Amino acid sequence: MIQIKNLTKKYGSTVAVDDISFSVKEGEILGFLGPNGAGKSTTMNIITGYLSSNEGEVIVDGFNILDNPTEAKKRIGYLPEHPPLYLDMTVGEYLSFMYDLKKVKLDVSKKNHIDNICGLVKISHVTDRVISHLSKGYRQRVGIAQAMLGNPPVLILDEPTVGLDPKQIIEIRSLIKSLSTKHTIVLSSHILSEIQAVCDRVVVINAGKIVADDTESHLSNTLSKDSRIVIRIEGPEQEVYNTMAGIPDVKEIKTMGLREDGIYEYIVEAKPGKDVRREIFKRMSTRSWAIMSLKSSEMTLEDIFLALTDGTFIANENNDTKDGGDK
Ligand code: ADP
Ligand code: MG
Repeated sequence: MIQIKNLTKKYGSTVAVDDISFSVKEGEILGFLGPNGAGKSTTMNIITGYLSSNEGEVIVDGFNILDNPTEAKKRIGYLPEHPPLYLDMTVGEYLSFMYDLKKVKLDVSKKNHIDNICGLVKISHVTDRVISHLSKGYRQRVGIAQAMLGNPPVLILDEPTVGLDPKQIIEIRSLIKSLSTKHTIVLSSHILSEIQAVCDRVVVINAGKIVADDTESHLSNTLSKDSRIVIRIEGPEQEVYNTMAGIPDVKEIKTMGLREDGIYEYIVEAKPGKDVRREIFKRMSTRSWAIMSLKSSEMTLEDIFLALTDGTFIANENNDTKDGGDK
């Protein structure tokens, strides 16, 4: 549905996007994951034709965004990072205005089309409200509704849950899932769990370069976050360490130091796919060392990049990392 080939975008001497290529299949929800400044918004602005690239091409449903911008853009609904909402319009006025601006032509009437979309994104009850009076979650829904005007087969959503509270995040995620039955979706985020919750496939970008392109489940398995736990144990630090280190499935232990009176914290990494929690419990209890807390440790984006790039990841922008060991 979307082919992105060898895109490069420079801002002066900053290389924001550095020779990236990937494609999105019809019906897929693709997660575009990377830290702030990685180049996500720049890429999305190029895909949607809002920004031109220095090199490379974007083809949407067979139409090149440069050669055939009208046809290509008709097929894309875009929720930019900062949706251009007109705050003093009502929701209904805004959607009607955007409908006209996009020169939408469909078999159904304008009113029916807008009503229909409002129903899908669950904003029918606020169409008479002024946008400035809406919560951030509702504004985001209005932005998504705007992207859906004209029934584009592709939706590009740039960090759709950023700045929302946890309840709104869950609602927007389930909205996106429900839209995926009718749309091919590309969604960016700097949060791994977000991508895991919603996407079929994930493309990971860092410092303008793609460092992984994989199915979500495969990436999660490779980076199984359950294999690492943070544990606090009441007992002598070195002996506790040695006892845990004696468990065959333990790969690595980091001591984090004294956290409470007599209680030390450790980060224990198990071998891939192994669960060492029961064995730790058994061995600690035979010595009467109390486990005061135990939780699995989520990998940070930086951990992921390190894992993906075999340690060749460098957290800065604009460095010419060699391709050695990348995948
Ligand atoms: P992301 O969306 O992943 O946070 P961006 O695409 O916004 O990343 O930015 C990628 C890089 O390009 C960053 O280093 C950012 O500072 C730079 N950049 C983005 N927009 C501009 C601009 N208009 N002018 C100059 N540099 C920019
Ligand atoms: Mg961005």
